Amino acid sequence: MDLMRGVPLHVALSGWAKHWVSLNGMFNLSPSSYQLSRPVESLENFLSHDWATSRWLKLLSLLIIFNSKPAAVATFLVSISVGLVAIFLQLPQESWVWLTLPGHITWLLVFCFWQRLRSFVTQPTMVFMDKICIAQHDDNLKERGILGLAAFVRSSNKLTILWSPRYFTRLWCSFEIATFLRDASRSGPKLKPIEIMPVKMAFLLVILAIHAHAQSLGFRFLSYMASQAQSSRGLWVFLLAVITLEALLAQPFILYIGIDLMKEVEELPRQLKAFSIRSAQCFCCSNGHLNPETKQALPCDRLLVYQTLREWFGNEEDPSVDYLDTFDTLVQKRLFGKVMRSVTSGWYISYSLTMMFVASMPYFTLCMLETAHGPDSLEGELWIWLVRQFLKAAKYPALNVLTFCTYMAMFKLGAVLMRRWSQLVSTVLLVPLTLALLLVWFVPVEMSFSFTGGLLPLAAVLCEALLAGLLWYLTFPSAEPCEAKDVKMHHVGSVGSIPALDAYDAFSI
Ligand SMILES: [Zn+2]
Repeated sequence: MDLMRGVPLHVALSGWAKHWVSLNGMFNLSPSSYQLSRPVESLENFLSHDWATSRWLKLLSLLIIFNSKPAAVATFLVSISVGLVAIFLQLPQESWVWLTLPGHITWLLVFCFWQRLRSFVTQPTMVFMDKICIAQHDDNLKERGILGLAAFVRSSNKLTILWSPRYFTRLWCSFEIATFLRDASRSGPKLKPIEIMPVKMAFLLVILAIHAHAQSLGFRFLSYMASQAQSSRGLWVFLLAVITLEALLAQPFILYIGIDLMKEVEELPRQLKAFSIRSAQCFCCSNGHLNPETKQALPCDRLLVYQTLREWFGNEEDPSVDYLDTFDTLVQKRLFGKVMRSVTSGWYISYSLTMMFVASMPYFTLCMLETAHGPDSLEGELWIWLVRQFLKAAKYPALNVLTFCTYMAMFKLGAVLMRRWSQLVSTVLLVPLTLALLLVWFVPVEMSFSFTGGLLPLAAVLCEALLAGLLWYLTFPSAEPCEAKDVKMHHVGSVGSIPALDAYDAFSI
């Protein structure tokens, strides 16, 4: 119990995730990082990651997991409050354009600093982070901490994996998974959730969100300029030119990384199916059990891990069953379905929607002000005007989700193109298509509002929402096929007699 330690999330994230920098394996660590953790009774998240993956990618992943939803709530509340205050103060129409700024700024601040902010008013979220919670400076403490890893897992509510293609090739990451699977076998159907965040996806989501915020702000100011000028046609052309230019600059970058991500995700099933703990790498073995800097002998972590795996997965009644094979089978068959569900569909829905929706929220302020101001002319029915006002508020959330789905579809298409062409050529091929699609989504909806009086925007926004739904359906496979495969594997699997697997099945099916 004295080794059970957790670290407040805002401490783990402090200094833009400076504690996540890889320091030559996990060596050269001072006792000071251990001092950042404190004894705890329970933990919220068990953070599992491999050290070679970029600190910045891990930072963005953690910000999305822990801060994106509070940021959305804060942005919504601020946007609505600014609208109410502006209505109350009867601010002149010329100043409205500035009123979307507080919403965007709130999002950025809460997204970056939420854990720090909340630590001032409430108990911090306690998480497990290997480098800080297990002593690295004292071999004896380290060994006891590692042997007690199961206790850390048991006390955590959720396993959060910051995934990169290296993850399942590392011995320590595999061991953390083993700890989790073993805990699953003991706690029965009350299995804790696994959340897998591909770190590159986090990067893409942040880029797309910032892109959407910048576009929203830019569009507000350009439309404001258009409304101030007398002839709007010239400004429309200018507006389209700016959007096209911006898209031409940002798109190749987004597409290039997105295709890379899809390739990695496509590789994941193969990686899991071929999983072998014997081929998993660790720092000590890769360096011939000598510290590369001091040339001092290093104890072998693999021996420690194997010894623990034997205790957990060994079969005393039938010694012919190899415990390492048992563990490999657990990962290859039982973990497979859960990981694939989590990576291909599960988590996208809530985080992606949150990140994309929120960029359109500051615009709600303007919609509120316009609605409170009332129609400019008395022509037409009031209810039609009100429906149009509502559609104005709804068009950007729909457009942002549609943009996201379009990009995801393009990434998938890019991964298909890469079977024949290089990543660069595939990206170049996709740029005009993506640009054309995004303009096709954007222009008709905007145009439909320029016809005064009618309900044309209703058709346009409905089409937009339908398209978003269709693309979503095509891009994200539903969880069904994966689950069906799981059930089938349960029947044909040859390892059904191992209690650990049965308990895991009880949950996964
Ligand atoms: Zn070794």
